Amino acid sequence: MTQIPTFALRLAALRAQFGQPAAPAVAAALQSLSLSRAVLLATPGHAAQAQDMAARIGAGVVAVLPMAAMHTPVEVTLAALPLVLAAKADALISFGGGSVTGLGKALALRTGLPHIAVPTTHAGSEVTGILGQTEAGRKTTLTDARLQPQVVIYDPQLIASLPADITLTSALNALAHAVEALYAPDRNPLTTTLALQGAQVLIAALPKVLENLHNLTARADCQYGGFLCGLVLGQVGMGLHHKLCHTLGGSFGLPHAQTHAVILPHAVAYNEAAVPDLLAPLAAILGAQTAGQGLHALAQRLNAPLSLQALGLREDDLDRAADLATQTPYPNPRPLEKPALLALLHAAWAGQPPQTRGSHG
Ligand code: NAD
Repeated sequence: MTQIPTFALRLAALRAQFGQPAAPAVAAALQSLSLSRAVLLATPGHAAQAQDMAARIGAGVVAVLPMAAMHTPVEVTLAALPLVLAAKADALISFGGGSVTGLGKALALRTGLPHIAVPTTHAGSEVTGILGQTEAGRKTTLTDARLQPQVVIYDPQLIASLPADITLTSALNALAHAVEALYAPDRNPLTTTLALQGAQVLIAALPKVLENLHNLTARADCQYGGFLCGLVLGQVGMGLHHKLCHTLGGSFGLPHAQTHAVILPHAVAYNEAAVPDLLAPLAAILGAQTAGQGLHALAQRLNAPLSLQALGLREDDLDRAADLATQTPYPNPRPLEKPALLALLHAAWAGQPPQTRGSHG
C-alpha cells in the first residue's frame, strides 16, 4: 500500500515585487501601508547611493543610517536602535545585501516596525524569518516570524552594479539553499517544486549575467531564482553542505561565499550516494549524469573558486575539519563517516572533481 504523504506548510505573509525601479515601488508600498516616517538602512560603503535612494523615494524617508556591518553585529544594532527611536520612525527600509537585511530584521524584532527590504545581492535573507547575528565574535541564529520583512522589492537595475565575483558566489550560495532543500528531512512537495524551479532559473540565467553584467533580463531572472531559493531556506533545515561551510568559515576563517562555491559539488556528490533519486531532477537540469558532476562542471564553466587550498586552508587542517563536521549531529541523508568526509575534504582542498556515487569510503 502506498503511504499517504503528510506535511505542513509554513507560508509567510509577504509581498514581493519584481522587475520595477525600487524608489517608486518603495514609495507606493509606504503609502499603501500608511507609513510616512521610514528610516533607510545601508552599509557605510553605499552611503551615497542610500542618500540618493532616499531622495528618490521622497518625503516618506526621514533618516538614512548607513551603518550596517558584515554578519550583523549586535553592537551595531544596539547603536542604531536609539537613532531609529529618535527619528520617531514608523518603518524600516533595508537597502543592500544580506548584511543590511540582517540589520533591518534585528531592528524590526526590537521595535515591531514594518520592514521593506530592497535586496542588492542574491543572499535570500529578505524572504526568511531567520536572523544570523554576531556577538563577541560568535555567530548565533534566531528564527522568529517577526523577522520576516513584509515587503520585498527586486529591482534588476540595482543589482547590475554587483561585481562578477560577488554575483557568482552570491548566486551559488542561493543555489546551495535549493540543493540542500531537495533532501532536507522536513521538505515537502512545495519546497521541492520551489527549489527545482529556483535552481533551474539560476542555472540558466547566471552564465548570461556573467557574460554581460548589465543584461537586465538575466539579472531579473537571477533575482527571481534567488528569491525562490530563499523561500525554501526559510522553510527547511540545511544539511552537510552548510555544516561544512560553517565549520570551515567559523574555525578556519575561510571566506563564507567562496567556501560555499567550492564545497557544494562535493557535499552533493557525498549525499547523492545515499539519495540519488532526490537529486536526479537537479542532475537533469544541469544536463549531467550526476548532480555532483554537474555542479562541478558548472563551477568550472563559470570560473568559480574550485579549491580550499586556494582559499588558504592548510592540508594539515583537513583532519580537524572532518572531526568538527562530525561532532554535533545534524540531519543529513547520508551518515557522517569521518573517512568519507576526509576524502571529500581532500578532493575539495585539491580542487579535484567530486567523487561520484559510491566512490566515497
Ligand atoms: P553582504 O551584504 O555582506 O554584501 C557583500 C558585499 O557586496 C558587500 O561588500 C556589499 O557592500 C557589496 N554589495 C552589495 N550589493 C551590492 C551592489 N548592488 N553593488 C555593488 N556592491 C554590492 O553579503 P551578502 O552575501 O548579501 O549577505 C551575506 C550575509 O547575509 C551573511 O551575514 C549571511 O549570514 C546573511 N544571510 C542571512 C540569511 C538569512 O536567512 N538570515 C540568508 C542568507 C544570508
